[in-house]
Amino acid sequence: MIKNMAINIYDLIIIGSGPAGLTAGIYASRYKLKTLIIGKINGGLMTESHKICNFPTEEDITGLALGEKMEKNARAQGSEIINKEITNISESDGLFTISSSDNMDFVSRSIILAYGTAHRHLGIPKEKELLGKGISYCATCDGMFFKNKTVAVIGGSDSALTSALYLADIANKVYLIYRGEKLRGEPSWIENINQSKNIEVLLNSEVTELIGENKLEKIKISNGTQLEINGLFVEIGTEPIKYDFVKNFKIDTDEKGYIEVNQAQQTSQAGIWAAGDLTTGSNNFRQIITACAEGAIAAESIFKYLKTNTISS
Ligand SMILES: Cc1cc2nc3c(=O)[nH]c(=O)nc-3n(C[C@H](O)[C@H](O)[C@H](O)COP(=O)(O)OP(=O)(O)OC[C@H]3O[C@@H](n4cnc5c(N)ncnc54)[C@H](O)[C@@H]3O)c2cc1C
Repeated sequence: MIKNMAINIYDLIIIGSGPAGLTAGIYASRYKLKTLIIGKINGGLMTESHKICNFPTEEDITGLALGEKMEKNARAQGSEIINKEITNISESDGLFTISSSDNMDFVSRSIILAYGTAHRHLGIPKEKELLGKGISYCATCDGMFFKNKTVAVIGGSDSALTSALYLADIANKVYLIYRGEKLRGEPSWIENINQSKNIEVLLNSEVTELIGENKLEKIKISNGTQLEINGLFVEIGTEPIKYDFVKNFKIDTDEKGYIEVNQAQQTSQAGIWAAGDLTTGSNNFRQIITACAEGAIAAESIFKYLKTNTISS
């Protein structure tokens, strides 16, 4: 029992303001839980997508616009949303203290981890040095710098295909380089790629060398060919973020580092739930709709948990 608590105690703090976090906020607020969402970028990873056609209510929308709609609804239902980077979590007497990089502390009875995943890197020399000098991980953010130029996209999944299609409307020529035998994204996107006049698909190919001193000038691919390009967009998927503050808790992960959750999105640590791309849930199908669903399930589970585990403040 905690007495004389002068500080603001939230029922739920959500770390991450992507689709999982924002949807969890919408549901939690409808359950009248005092909810705070803390995230770096409202809308999350989908803000990098120029065209989303598979969210049920949207025929064709940018990720930025869809994120703004979710944020607006989360606020309308009563969630507080602030933009900060979380750097630590500690626990005492059943209450969690969540700390941000600007030395602020927030206290909550429960947590949802919804901080998503990070872009996977190529891991070849010069990748870091040439970042922002021809190399990018986000076509919608940086594509306009390559108007009427030649660019390459690496990857074969939906994010690579949609990036290539977006760039094809800006650049003169787009190489789509993929190590597999055939592209593996949605057939609808593959059809669009095949119909495009300025996208050249190079299969069974990997980028082996980045050439250029102060800016990217050429890339070498696995068959020895060199391609002169101005920009290279790395879209080879995402991977789990391994935060030290999560390692402080007994949160089980799979061998890759994705957080293991049960059907109620609970982690192995009492009081902490997880939702979205960072979990092993939804049959590992990492999409906006599944992130939203996991956020909703986590919020409902926390509502039930807090009804039976209430701490007087
Ligand atoms: C180019 C591209 C196109 C895509 N197209 C589609 C599509 O058409 N349809 C579809 O369904 N999916 C698409 N996706 C996938 C979709 O974006 C993700 O599945 C979805 O965004 C996952 O949501 P999330 O809330 O789990 O995580 P995220 O969206 O990654 O959100 C996590 C948030 O947490 C924040 N965060 C991370 N660490 C911290 C910290 N320490 N403190 C505070 N905040 C933190 C991040 O900055 C981010 O804002 C696409 C992805 C990309 C990259």
